[in-house]
Amino acid sequence: MAQPLQCLGCYGVVVRRFVLLPVVVVLLAGLVVWWLKFDRGLPQATLEGETAVVGRDAQWVINLESPGQSGFKSVAIRLLADERTFEIAERQFDAQSWRGSGVGALRIPLEVDLGRLGVPEGPATLEVLAETYGWHLFDRDSPVVARFPQRIDRTPPTAQVLSEQHNMRLGGSSVAVVRIGEDATTYEIRVGTYTFPIQRGYFADPSIGLAIFAVPEDLDAGAQPMLRVADDIGNRVDVPLYASIRPREFRERSLEISDDFLQRKIPPIFEARGMAPPSDLLEGYLVVNRDIRRSSEETLRELTRQTTPHELWQGAFRRMSRAQTMSDFGDRRSYTYGDRVVDRQTHLGVDLASLRGAAVDAAQHGVVAFTGDLGIYGQTVVLDHGLGVFTLYGHLSSISVAKGDTVTVGQVIGTTGQTGLAGGDHLHFSTMVHGVHVDPVEWWDPKWIHDHVTAKLDMFPRPGEESSGNEEAAAGEAEGTVATPQAADKLDEGESDNPNG
Ligand SMILES: [Zn+2]
Repeated sequence: MAQPLQCLGCYGVVVRRFVLLPVVVVLLAGLVVWWLKFDRGLPQATLEGETAVVGRDAQWVINLESPGQSGFKSVAIRLLADERTFEIAERQFDAQSWRGSGVGALRIPLEVDLGRLGVPEGPATLEVLAETYGWHLFDRDSPVVARFPQRIDRTPPTAQVLSEQHNMRLGGSSVAVVRIGEDATTYEIRVGTYTFPIQRGYFADPSIGLAIFAVPEDLDAGAQPMLRVADDIGNRVDVPLYASIRPREFRERSLEISDDFLQRKIPPIFEARGMAPPSDLLEGYLVVNRDIRRSSEETLRELTRQTTPHELWQGAFRRMSRAQTMSDFGDRRSYTYGDRVVDRQTHLGVDLASLRGAAVDAAQHGVVAFTGDLGIYGQTVVLDHGLGVFTLYGHLSSISVAKGDTVTVGQVIGTTGQTGLAGGDHLHFSTMVHGVHVDPVEWWDPKWIHDHVTAKLDMFPRPGEESSGNEEAAAGEAEGTVATPQAADKLDEGESDNPNG
């Protein structure tokens, strides 16, 4: 009786092999297809950040997640405002196989000029539309997967230029006095590619700001200084300044590079920077005159970002006494080696020669912003005179002040020398406005400084000045003391020493 049992067993094996197995295979295949092709819900969209109010230059980042494995077929983003529809972005994704595109997650950064699109101000809705290659059992009557309520504000902050006339010449400086709206978050004077920060809090009226700015010597007289004001949602306004800029021809100067000069000058500059001097000294010279010069200017631009928020100078700046001018501001220099021109650079200061090792005086009251080696300038002192005005003293043989020291006009800060790229003992003197070299001659002139700087700084009362009552005056004075760093307290004593003041 064992046979039927065995037969039954055989039958069971047959059932398992020929019926159950295909069922399992079909089920598994179905499961795989279901896994690959069915969407288990709608695509999910999220908006990065808490963007709810957008300005003229709207910036959104949308993240999209596909609910299945097949990936996105199409994605579109549009803005609905005032019953109108503005198409913002659209993208199709090709299928890579029967499974779909395989694009399951998307991060979509959007930058949209709403002004150009003509989107009206007020409430708006950002809609995200998405289709996938997946199959779904649920009904979708619309491809919209998310709606984000937004508010469009395209009105820029108020911006007004209060200083009326800026008579300048190339390489010269001026002061802009401006009124800017409360919602402004960035504000600056722009001249060509140069920017000069506007400072608020100098005047009693917090809406009034000022900026000392320059028309750098490498621009042309057609440059138009502009006030640019923007809010934190990208609304921006540019207001031209009333500026008349006189053109200027800078001198052409030719300088000869001798082998002796290269031997004396190039190795120490490389050694000071911990670099081995190259065997070809002319090549080394070009590295110094181009690359190291540029990096010194970047250092200056960086260190002049920090400035005292009020002027420390009183009257005109001082020119080194009993010194002869060897080179002018803006000289276009060509450097010759043998009979060929090997380089061209602009001289951005004034070279003043006196006796060897002559005393170098501070041109005005100030605070020492930098001392030490500065590439082509050699041993250098930089003084901060407030409001972004700085003076630089280069090629020194000795320095007698330290960073952070307060100096008074006429105080000895070092002695002349020929460190850096100097051919002989002299002072390289430079005046800078927010790190941009300007013609020092203007700042040496008491009439110029009165008409172009002081008159504009006196246009409006400063904090504490606007009140006439005793209590208010006392309050103002207290405020003034808080706002004045120690540097200025000391400077008042030096006032009588200033021959230009
Ligand atoms: Zn020089």
